[in-house]
Amino acid sequence: MLDYVGLEADLGEEERMIRDTAREFVEDRIDPTIGDHFEDGTFPEELIPEMGELGFYAPNLEGYGSPNVSETAYGLLMQELEAGDSGIRSMASVQGALVMYPIHAFGSEEQKERWLPDLGRGEAVGCFGLTEPEHGSNPSGMETRAERVDDSAGGGTAGEYVLNGSKTWITNSPIADVAVVWARDKSAEDDPVRGFLVETDRDGVTTNKIDDKLSMRASVTGEIGLNDVVVPEENVLPGVSGMKGPLSCLTQARYGIAWGVVGAARDCFETARQYATDREQFGGPIGRFQLQQQKLAEMATQITTAQLLAHRLADLKERGDLRPQHVSMAKRNNVNMAREQSKVAREMLGGNGITTDYSPMRHMANMETVYTYEGTHDIHTLILGEDLTGIPAYE
Ligand SMILES: Cc1cc2nc3c(=O)[nH]c(=O)nc-3n(C[C@H](O)[C@H](O)[C@H](O)COP(=O)(O)OP(=O)(O)OC[C@H]3O[C@@H](n4cnc5c(N)ncnc54)[C@H](O)[C@@H]3O)c2cc1C
Repeated sequence: MLDYVGLEADLGEEERMIRDTAREFVEDRIDPTIGDHFEDGTFPEELIPEMGELGFYAPNLEGYGSPNVSETAYGLLMQELEAGDSGIRSMASVQGALVMYPIHAFGSEEQKERWLPDLGRGEAVGCFGLTEPEHGSNPSGMETRAERVDDSAGGGTAGEYVLNGSKTWITNSPIADVAVVWARDKSAEDDPVRGFLVETDRDGVTTNKIDDKLSMRASVTGEIGLNDVVVPEENVLPGVSGMKGPLSCLTQARYGIAWGVVGAARDCFETARQYATDREQFGGPIGRFQLQQQKLAEMATQITTAQLLAHRLADLKERGDLRPQHVSMAKRNNVNMAREQSKVAREMLGGNGITTDYSPMRHMANMETVYTYEGTHDIHTLILGEDLTGIPAYE
């Protein structure tokens, strides 16, 4: 496996063990069937508890069954899972960084005890509802609303909240037991954004699946419809109010993406390198042509620099110096790198490269989603632009 500057040498025992466990899981449980899942547009749901047993959901959290592994170990885990498929890493990212993290960081003791162990074991599935049909890159424009019953003259018991609105492009919503829904609290001054834990079997909740995706096909994506959904006050995340709630979750998930896509790019590289050695044209392997070597050299260089950035991010996160803008730079750079290099790997495979027998075109298609979700490439450019100049350029 490509590790050109010997990063392996600096890994601790636990980090190697987690990486190797994830690598073996991908080889044994993902690689043999992922092409079929991608073609069929299905997620291997039977693996959800197995991934839980292996500790793939938020192992970097502390307590409630999570072992608090290093940020490097967590990053390596994301890297190995995404070498399998971005849909597998997305499952672990959403469950860990977008559902378990906010409950861990902002939840009540009862919420933590109710949800974290089950989510960690993969016995419950969570989803994260921020994006709306009319509000993607600018989620602060959200229209989903929550009203306290005593303030709204609606039915129900005083203190309960009634939720109305719709979310879209929500990873796992059709298979989720609980959704972290971000909504404007219309009963509080200035309508702050609050997080609500909404069990998907509550009256008024619908979770239609979005079909016809040409990217991230081995991942379940859906909507969340909320029609007069009543939730008790105990389901509000008490520890946060305002956009910093969802944005802090996104920083966690983007950190995992910055690592994960290195794995997807590495898998493309290894596939192309092997193919260049095996495939013969004009009387010998295509890997002897300078044109093909140039592609491999560039791919290896780009992957290595992305790896270095990911490792540096882990160090900053570990010592509490990681800023969201650092994560924006790494998400933006590393996803763009994987998007470009998966295309080069695909071309090196000739006609075979357009089939699901080989991984690069599947990774390449997935990268269109990864380039778009968790802040588009453009939005991360604007975040960096603001950080570098002090001038916001969003509007
Ligand atoms: C498969 C998949 C899974 C997803 N999973 C989740 C999930 O689990 N939970 C969730 O909440 N969301 C999820 N999303 C939603 C995702 O985060 C949004 O698609 C993303 O934020 C972009 O929003 P949009 O699609 O509405 O695009 P838009 O915001 O409409 O953007 C369209 C284009 O305009 C550009 N643009 C927008 N604003 C500006 C600007 N100010 N300056 C320059 N260019 C701009 C964008 O970069 C983009 O190119 C998922 C999306 C996909 C595709």
